[in-house]
Amino acid sequence: MAQKDYYEILGVSRDADQSEIKKAYRKLAKKYHPDMNQDGEDTSDKFKEISEAYEILSDPDKRSRYDQYGHSGINENDFNFDDFARGGFGGLDDLFNMFGFGGGGSRRQSGPKRGADLQYRMEISFEEAAFGGKKEIRLPREEECNHCQGSGAEPGSDVKTCPDCHGQGQVRTSKQTPFGQFTQSRVCPTCRGEGKIISEPCTKCNGSGKVRKQRKLTVNIPEGVDTGTRLRMAGEGQAGEKGGPSGDLYIIIDVQDHDIFDRKGDDLYCEVPISFVQAALGDKIKVPTLEGKVQFDIPEGTQPGTTFRLKNKGISHLNGYGRGDQYIKVKVIIPKDLDSQQKDLLTKFAEISGEEINPEHKGFLKKIKDALNV
Ligand SMILES: [Zn+2]
Ligand SMILES: [Zn+2]
Repeated sequence: MAQKDYYEILGVSRDADQSEIKKAYRKLAKKYHPDMNQDGEDTSDKFKEISEAYEILSDPDKRSRYDQYGHSGINENDFNFDDFARGGFGGLDDLFNMFGFGGGGSRRQSGPKRGADLQYRMEISFEEAAFGGKKEIRLPREEECNHCQGSGAEPGSDVKTCPDCHGQGQVRTSKQTPFGQFTQSRVCPTCRGEGKIISEPCTKCNGSGKVRKQRKLTVNIPEGVDTGTRLRMAGEGQAGEKGGPSGDLYIIIDVQDHDIFDRKGDDLYCEVPISFVQAALGDKIKVPTLEGKVQFDIPEGTQPGTTFRLKNKGISHLNGYGRGDQYIKVKVIIPKDLDSQQKDLLTKFAEISGEEINPEHKGFLKKIKDALNV
Protein backbone atom coordinates (compact mmCIF):
# COMPACT_ATOMS: atom_id res chain seq x y z
CA MET A 1 0.00 0.00 0.00
CA ALA A 2 1.24 3.49 -0.80
CA GLN A 3 2.06 5.35 2.37
CA LYS A 4 0.28 8.62 2.77
CA ASP A 5 1.64 11.48 4.79
CA TYR A 6 0.21 11.40 8.32
CA TYR A 7 -0.16 15.18 8.45
CA GLU A 8 -2.04 15.13 5.16
CA ILE A 9 -4.31 12.36 6.40
CA LEU A 10 -5.33 14.45 9.41
CA GLY A 11 -5.30 17.67 7.39
CA VAL A 12 -3.00 19.51 9.78
CA SER A 13 0.21 21.44 9.24
CA ARG A 14 3.57 20.00 10.22
CA ASP A 15 3.85 22.37 13.15
CA ALA A 16 0.35 21.69 14.45
CA ASP A 17 0.24 21.39 18.23
CA GLN A 18 -1.27 18.49 20.14
CA SER A 19 -4.66 20.06 20.56
CA GLU A 20 -4.97 20.80 16.82
CA ILE A 21 -4.01 17.22 16.05
CA LYS A 22 -6.53 15.92 18.55
CA LYS A 23 -9.29 18.14 17.19
CA ALA A 24 -8.60 17.08 13.63
CA TYR A 25 -8.56 13.42 14.64
CA ARG A 26 -11.83 13.65 16.52
CA LYS A 27 -13.55 15.37 13.64
CA LEU A 28 -12.36 12.83 11.08
CA ALA A 29 -12.92 9.84 13.35
CA LYS A 30 -16.51 10.88 13.77
CA LYS A 31 -16.96 11.40 10.06
CA TYR A 32 -15.36 8.17 8.94
CA HIS A 33 -16.28 5.85 11.75
CA PRO A 34 -17.77 2.83 10.01
CA ASP A 35 -20.97 3.11 12.03
CA MET A 36 -21.40 6.80 11.49
CA ASN A 37 -21.39 6.87 7.75
CA GLN A 38 -24.82 6.73 6.28
CA ASP A 39 -24.16 6.10 2.62
CA GLY A 40 -23.29 2.49 3.23
CA GLU A 41 -19.84 3.23 1.86
CA ASP A 42 -17.05 1.21 3.41
CA THR A 43 -14.99 3.72 5.36
CA SER A 44 -13.13 1.19 7.47
CA ASP A 45 -9.83 1.64 5.60
CA LYS A 46 -10.10 5.38 5.87
CA PHE A 47 -10.83 5.08 9.58
CA LYS A 48 -7.84 2.85 10.14
CA GLU A 49 -5.67 5.31 8.24
CA ILE A 50 -6.84 8.16 10.48
CA SER A 51 -6.30 6.11 13.64
CA GLU A 52 -2.78 5.21 12.55
CA ALA A 53 -1.90 8.80 11.73
CA TYR A 54 -3.20 9.93 15.10
CA GLU A 55 -1.40 7.18 16.91
CA ILE A 56 1.92 8.42 15.55
CA LEU A 57 1.36 12.17 15.65
CA SER A 58 -0.14 12.21 19.14
CA ASP A 59 2.97 10.63 20.64
CA PRO A 60 5.89 13.07 20.83
CA ASP A 61 8.50 10.33 20.47
CA LYS A 62 6.86 8.61 17.50
CA ARG A 63 6.11 11.96 15.92
CA SER A 64 9.72 13.15 16.08
CA ARG A 65 10.90 9.87 14.56
CA TYR A 66 8.33 10.28 11.82
CA ASP A 67 9.36 13.90 11.22
CA GLN A 68 12.98 12.85 10.93
CA TYR A 69 12.77 9.60 9.00
CA GLY A 70 9.28 9.52 7.53
CA HIS A 71 7.54 6.17 7.35
CA SER A 72 10.82 4.33 7.64
CA GLY A 73 11.16 5.66 11.19
CA ILE A 74 7.94 3.92 12.16
CA ASN A 75 7.44 0.22 12.58
CA GLU A 76 4.58 -2.11 13.34
CA ASN A 77 5.31 -2.02 17.07
CA ASP A 78 4.36 1.63 17.11
CA PHE A 79 0.77 0.67 16.56
CA ASN A 80 -1.41 -0.92 19.16
CA PHE A 81 -3.07 -2.37 16.12
CA ASP A 82 -0.47 -5.08 15.81
CA ASP A 83 -2.65 -7.56 17.63
CA PHE A 84 -5.31 -7.23 15.04
CA ALA A 85 -5.48 -9.38 12.04
CA ARG A 86 -5.63 -6.63 9.48
CA GLY A 87 -8.47 -8.13 7.58
CA GLY A 88 -11.80 -6.60 6.75
CA PHE A 89 -14.50 -5.75 9.18
CA GLY A 90 -16.91 -8.40 10.30
CA GLY A 91 -20.59 -8.18 11.00
CA LEU A 92 -20.98 -4.44 10.90
CA ASP A 93 -24.62 -4.30 10.07
CA ASP A 94 -26.09 -3.73 13.49
CA LEU A 95 -23.09 -3.42 15.74
CA PHE A 96 -23.54 0.07 16.95
CA ASN A 97 -20.34 1.87 17.73
CA MET A 98 -18.31 -1.23 17.20
CA PHE A 99 -16.50 -3.16 14.60
CA GLY A 100 -14.43 -6.25 14.43
CA PHE A 101 -11.14 -6.97 12.80
CA GLY A 102 -10.27 -10.33 11.42
CA GLY A 103 -12.14 -12.68 9.23
CA GLY A 104 -9.60 -12.40 6.45
CA GLY A 105 -7.37 -15.16 5.13
CA SER A 106 -8.34 -18.79 5.13
CA ARG A 107 -11.41 -18.53 7.22
CA ARG A 108 -12.57 -22.09 7.10
CA GLN A 109 -10.32 -24.38 8.99
CA SER A 110 -11.34 -27.34 10.95
CA GLY A 111 -9.21 -26.62 14.04
CA PRO A 112 -9.96 -24.23 16.90
CA LYS A 113 -9.93 -20.61 15.88
CA ARG A 114 -9.51 -17.55 18.02
CA GLY A 115 -12.41 -15.09 17.91
CA ALA A 116 -12.00 -11.73 16.23
CA ASP A 117 -10.93 -8.66 18.18
CA LEU A 118 -13.50 -5.93 18.54
CA GLN A 119 -13.20 -2.21 18.90
CA TYR A 120 -15.63 0.01 20.71
CA ARG A 121 -15.47 3.76 20.59
CA MET A 122 -16.48 5.24 23.93
CA GLU A 123 -17.17 8.90 24.46
CA ILE A 124 -16.54 10.07 28.00
CA SER A 125 -16.68 13.40 29.77
CA PHE A 126 -13.65 15.50 30.55
CA GLU A 127 -14.05 14.72 34.25
CA GLU A 128 -14.32 10.97 33.66
CA ALA A 129 -11.04 11.15 31.76
CA ALA A 130 -9.43 13.13 34.57
CA PHE A 131 -10.67 11.10 37.51
CA GLY A 132 -11.32 7.72 35.97
CA GLY A 133 -14.28 5.61 36.96
CA LYS A 134 -16.48 2.80 35.84
CA LYS A 135 -18.79 2.95 32.89
CA GLU A 136 -21.28 0.39 31.78
CA ILE A 137 -21.60 -0.38 28.11
CA ARG A 138 -23.86 -2.71 26.22
CA LEU A 139 -22.54 -4.43 23.22
CA PRO A 140 -23.55 -7.28 21.04
CA ARG A 141 -21.14 -10.05 20.24
CA GLU A 142 -21.38 -13.44 18.67
CA GLU A 143 -21.28 -16.36 21.06
CA GLU A 144 -21.46 -20.08 20.64
CA CYS A 145 -25.03 -21.28 20.15
CA ASN A 146 -26.19 -23.17 23.25
CA HIS A 147 -28.71 -25.20 21.33
CA CYS A 148 -26.21 -26.97 19.06
CA GLN A 149 -23.04 -26.32 21.10
CA GLY A 150 -21.66 -24.44 18.13
CA SER A 151 -21.84 -27.40 15.76
CA GLY A 152 -24.54 -25.80 13.61
CA ALA A 153 -26.51 -29.07 13.47
CA GLU A 154 -29.92 -29.53 15.07
CA PRO A 155 -29.36 -31.81 18.09
CA GLY A 156 -30.20 -35.42 17.22
CA SER A 157 -30.03 -34.79 13.50
CA ASP A 158 -27.80 -36.69 11.14
CA VAL A 159 -24.29 -35.33 10.60
CA LYS A 160 -22.27 -37.10 7.95
CA THR A 161 -18.58 -36.97 7.34
CA CYS A 162 -18.01 -35.18 4.06
CA PRO A 163 -17.45 -37.83 1.36
CA ASP A 164 -15.21 -35.57 -0.75
CA CYS A 165 -12.60 -34.64 1.80
CA HIS A 166 -13.25 -37.44 4.29
CA GLY A 167 -13.63 -34.95 7.08
CA GLN A 168 -10.39 -33.11 6.39
CA GLY A 169 -12.06 -29.95 5.16
CA GLN A 170 -9.42 -29.68 2.44
CA VAL A 171 -8.96 -31.35 -0.87
CA ARG A 172 -5.71 -31.80 -2.76
CA THR A 173 -5.32 -31.45 -6.47
CA SER A 174 -2.22 -32.39 -8.40
CA LYS A 175 -1.15 -30.61 -11.50
CA GLN A 176 1.49 -31.69 -14.00
CA THR A 177 3.49 -28.69 -15.22
CA PRO A 178 6.71 -28.36 -17.27
CA PHE A 179 8.49 -27.80 -13.94
CA GLY A 180 7.20 -30.93 -12.30
CA GLN A 181 4.17 -31.98 -10.36
CA PHE A 182 2.51 -29.50 -8.06
CA THR A 183 0.13 -30.44 -5.33
CA GLN A 184 -2.22 -27.82 -4.08
CA SER A 185 -4.65 -28.06 -1.23
CA ARG A 186 -7.72 -25.93 -1.03
CA VAL A 187 -10.85 -25.65 1.01
CA CYS A 188 -13.25 -28.47 0.22
CA PRO A 189 -16.09 -26.97 -1.84
CA THR A 190 -18.62 -29.63 -0.81
CA CYS A 191 -18.53 -28.97 2.93
CA ARG A 192 -16.87 -25.53 2.69
CA GLY A 193 -14.10 -26.74 4.93
CA GLU A 194 -16.28 -28.02 7.75
CA GLY A 195 -15.46 -31.66 7.06
CA LYS A 196 -19.04 -32.71 7.61
CA ILE A 197 -22.42 -32.40 6.02
CA ILE A 198 -25.30 -31.26 8.17
CA SER A 199 -28.66 -32.63 7.14
CA GLU A 200 -30.68 -30.40 9.45
CA PRO A 201 -29.26 -27.00 10.41
CA CYS A 202 -29.76 -25.88 13.99
CA THR A 203 -33.07 -24.10 14.35
CA LYS A 204 -31.70 -21.49 16.76
CA CYS A 205 -28.69 -20.32 14.78
CA ASN A 206 -29.60 -21.45 11.25
CA GLY A 207 -26.53 -23.61 11.12
CA SER A 208 -23.97 -20.92 11.81
CA GLY A 209 -23.19 -22.27 15.28
CA LYS A 210 -23.27 -18.74 16.62
CA VAL A 211 -25.85 -16.44 18.09
CA ARG A 212 -25.67 -12.74 18.70
CA LYS A 213 -26.05 -11.72 22.31
CA GLN A 214 -26.36 -8.33 23.90
CA ARG A 215 -24.01 -8.08 26.85
CA LYS A 216 -23.40 -5.62 29.62
CA LEU A 217 -19.79 -4.87 30.42
CA THR A 218 -18.24 -2.59 32.99
CA VAL A 219 -15.26 -0.67 31.69
CA ASN A 220 -12.73 0.53 34.24
CA ILE A 221 -11.48 3.89 33.10
CA PRO A 222 -8.10 4.69 34.62
CA GLU A 223 -7.29 8.27 35.63
CA GLY A 224 -5.61 10.28 32.91
CA VAL A 225 -6.94 8.66 29.73
CA ASP A 226 -7.15 10.90 26.71
CA THR A 227 -8.70 10.85 23.26
CA GLY A 228 -7.16 7.96 21.36
CA THR A 229 -6.24 5.92 24.46
CA ARG A 230 -6.92 2.22 23.90
CA LEU A 231 -8.03 0.02 26.76
CA ARG A 232 -7.79 -3.70 26.22
CA MET A 233 -10.31 -6.07 27.74
CA ALA A 234 -8.93 -9.55 27.28
CA GLY A 235 -11.35 -12.22 26.14
CA GLU A 236 -14.25 -9.82 25.58
CA GLY A 237 -14.11 -9.91 21.78
CA GLN A 238 -15.94 -12.32 19.50
CA ALA A 239 -16.23 -15.90 20.72
CA GLY A 240 -13.74 -18.36 19.28
CA GLU A 241 -14.71 -21.25 17.06
CA LYS A 242 -14.46 -24.92 17.90
CA GLY A 243 -13.07 -24.36 21.35
CA GLY A 244 -10.74 -21.53 20.33
CA PRO A 245 -10.30 -18.60 22.74
CA SER A 246 -12.33 -15.41 22.46
CA GLY A 247 -10.77 -12.34 20.89
CA ASP A 248 -10.10 -9.17 22.84
CA LEU A 249 -12.11 -6.00 23.07
CA TYR A 250 -10.39 -2.65 22.58
CA ILE A 251 -12.09 0.39 24.02
CA ILE A 252 -11.06 3.53 22.15
CA ILE A 253 -11.51 6.62 24.27
CA ASP A 254 -12.92 9.87 22.94
CA VAL A 255 -12.91 12.68 25.50
CA GLN A 256 -15.43 15.51 25.24
CA ASP A 257 -14.22 19.08 25.38
CA HIS A 258 -14.55 21.10 28.57
CA ASP A 259 -16.22 24.49 28.81
CA ILE A 260 -13.40 26.06 30.79
CA PHE A 261 -10.33 23.91 30.47
CA ASP A 262 -8.17 23.12 27.49
CA ARG A 263 -6.07 20.02 27.86
CA LYS A 264 -2.60 19.59 26.41
CA GLY A 265 -1.11 16.31 27.47
CA ASP A 266 -1.78 16.25 31.20
CA ASP A 267 -1.62 20.01 31.65
CA LEU A 268 -4.70 22.19 31.83
CA TYR A 269 -5.09 25.70 30.51
CA CYS A 270 -7.76 28.25 31.32
CA GLU A 271 -8.33 31.96 31.09
CA VAL A 272 -9.41 34.03 34.06
CA PRO A 273 -10.84 37.53 33.57
CA ILE A 274 -9.80 40.21 36.07
CA SER A 275 -10.46 43.94 36.12
CA PHE A 276 -7.70 46.40 35.34
CA VAL A 277 -7.94 47.57 38.95
CA GLN A 278 -7.30 44.02 40.19
CA ALA A 279 -4.39 43.77 37.78
CA ALA A 280 -2.90 47.03 39.02
CA LEU A 281 -3.49 46.63 42.75
CA GLY A 282 -3.41 42.86 43.06
CA ASP A 283 -6.24 40.82 44.58
CA LYS A 284 -7.25 37.53 46.02
CA ILE A 285 -9.46 35.82 43.47
CA LYS A 286 -11.11 32.45 43.07
CA VAL A 287 -9.96 30.32 40.16
CA PRO A 288 -11.54 27.12 38.87
CA THR A 289 -9.63 23.85 39.17
CA LEU A 290 -10.73 20.28 38.54
CA GLU A 291 -11.41 19.96 42.26
CA GLY A 292 -13.45 23.16 42.49
CA LYS A 293 -12.54 26.75 43.12
CA VAL A 294 -9.36 27.68 44.96
CA GLN A 295 -8.05 31.02 46.15
CA PHE A 296 -5.28 32.59 44.15
CA ASP A 297 -3.30 35.76 44.80
CA ILE A 298 -3.00 38.03 41.80
CA PRO A 299 0.15 40.06 42.48
CA GLU A 300 0.25 43.83 42.18
CA GLY A 301 1.07 45.06 38.71
CA THR A 302 0.03 41.95 36.84
CA GLN A 303 0.26 42.47 33.09
CA PRO A 304 -2.41 41.33 30.62
CA GLY A 305 -1.74 37.84 29.31
CA THR A 306 0.44 36.81 32.26
CA THR A 307 0.28 33.07 32.85
CA PHE A 308 0.47 31.60 36.32
CA ARG A 309 1.11 27.98 37.12
CA LEU A 310 -0.75 25.91 39.69
CA LYS A 311 1.51 22.99 40.28
CA ASN A 312 -0.03 19.50 40.31
CA LYS A 313 -3.50 20.77 39.53
CA GLY A 314 -3.58 19.15 36.10
CA ILE A 315 -4.58 15.64 35.06
CA SER A 316 -3.08 12.54 36.64
CA HIS A 317 -0.52 10.81 34.48
CA LEU A 318 -1.91 7.61 33.03
CA ASN A 319 1.00 5.62 34.46
CA GLY A 320 -0.23 6.47 37.96
CA TYR A 321 2.65 8.67 39.06
CA GLY A 322 2.06 12.36 39.58
CA ARG A 323 -0.04 14.76 37.65
CA GLY A 324 0.22 17.68 35.28
CA ASP A 325 -0.05 21.37 36.10
CA GLN A 326 -2.71 23.96 35.55
CA TYR A 327 -1.93 27.23 33.78
CA ILE A 328 -4.02 30.30 34.36
CA LYS A 329 -3.83 33.05 31.81
CA VAL A 330 -5.00 36.41 33.04
CA LYS A 331 -7.33 38.35 30.81
CA VAL A 332 -7.50 41.99 31.87
CA ILE A 333 -10.87 43.51 31.17
CA ILE A 334 -10.91 47.17 30.23
CA PRO A 335 -14.20 48.74 31.35
CA LYS A 336 -16.63 50.17 28.83
CA ASP A 337 -19.31 52.82 29.30
CA LEU A 338 -17.77 54.59 32.27
CA ASP A 339 -19.93 57.16 34.00
CA SER A 340 -18.73 60.72 34.52
CA GLN A 341 -17.52 60.09 38.05
CA GLN A 342 -15.41 57.13 36.93
CA LYS A 343 -14.05 59.16 34.03
CA ASP A 344 -13.13 62.01 36.36
CA LEU A 345 -11.27 59.67 38.64
CA LEU A 346 -9.33 58.13 35.80
CA THR A 347 -8.52 61.52 34.37
CA LYS A 348 -7.24 62.53 37.80
CA PHE A 349 -5.26 59.34 37.93
CA ALA A 350 -3.68 60.23 34.61
CA GLU A 351 -2.84 63.72 35.82
CA ILE A 352 -1.18 62.39 38.96
CA SER A 353 0.75 59.95 36.83
CA GLY A 354 1.94 62.82 34.67
CA GLU A 355 0.15 61.39 31.72
CA GLU A 356 -1.36 63.89 29.35
CA ILE A 357 -4.57 62.60 27.92
CA ASN A 358 -7.23 64.26 25.90
CA PRO A 359 -10.10 61.87 25.57
CA GLU A 360 -12.27 64.13 23.38
CA HIS A 361 -12.56 63.11 19.77
CA LYS A 362 -10.79 66.23 18.48
CA GLY A 363 -8.03 65.76 20.93
CA PHE A 364 -7.66 62.20 19.82
CA LEU A 365 -7.12 63.30 16.21
CA LYS A 366 -4.65 65.90 17.38
CA LYS A 367 -2.80 63.23 19.31
CA ILE A 368 -2.44 61.13 16.22
CA LYS A 369 -1.22 64.11 14.24
CA ASP A 370 1.27 64.92 16.99
CA ALA A 371 2.47 61.37 16.96
CA LEU A 372 2.89 61.44 13.19
CA ASN A 373 4.45 64.90 13.24
CA VAL A 374 2.13 66.34 10.57
ZN1 LIG B 1 -27.14 -23.63 16.87
ZN1 LIG C 1 -15.52 -31.76 2.51
